[in-house]
Amino acid sequence: MQARPLHQRGGAPWVRSTDTIYVRSLDGPVHVKIGTVPDCLFCGIAAGDIPARKILETDRIVAFHDINPQAPVHVLVIPRSHYADVAALAAAGDGLLTEVIEQAHQVATMTGVADGGYRVVFNTGDDGGQTVQHVHAHVLGGRAMTWPPG
Ligand code: AMP
Ligand code: ZN
Repeated sequence: MQARPLHQRGGAPWVRSTDTIYVRSLDGPVHVKIGTVPDCLFCGIAAGDIPARKILETDRIVAFHDINPQAPVHVLVIPRSHYADVAALAAAGDGLLTEVIEQAHQVATMTGVADGGYRVVFNTGDDGGQTVQHVHAHVLGGRAMTWPPG
């Protein structure tokens, strides 16, 4: 039988959008990718099941305008595969985090803010202000950013 994600094998109700699965082997922990999580908003946007104003798509990345923009340019860049946060994405170690950053720069170029400067933010965890548990880079630009952030 061909290997398929758990949730496609008759369902895995214990897997939630906040989950990251690690398997420990003799060589150390192995990150197991959760492809699509049924109750995840951004998995739904990546799959095209939930509408969004997409501006860029590749085989592994989707970028779309934030529904509640905090700057003239406010775009979210996500991997199609589900990772709860940037630490989980980094742990995957397959170059996908680099691709997210590369596409964030591509978004900045496409929206005309690359030369003037822009900000890339990964809100992480409760104190970091993360509200959607599917890793996303905020690309903010089109105005001078303040520091420190709120
Ligand atoms: P964070 O609070 O860092 O997890 O960022 C989540 C972001 O997702 C917020 O900036 C929201 O405005 C944005 N957001 C929530 N729902 C949608 C949606 N349906 N389409 C686009 N952006 C969304
Ligand atoms: Zn997701």
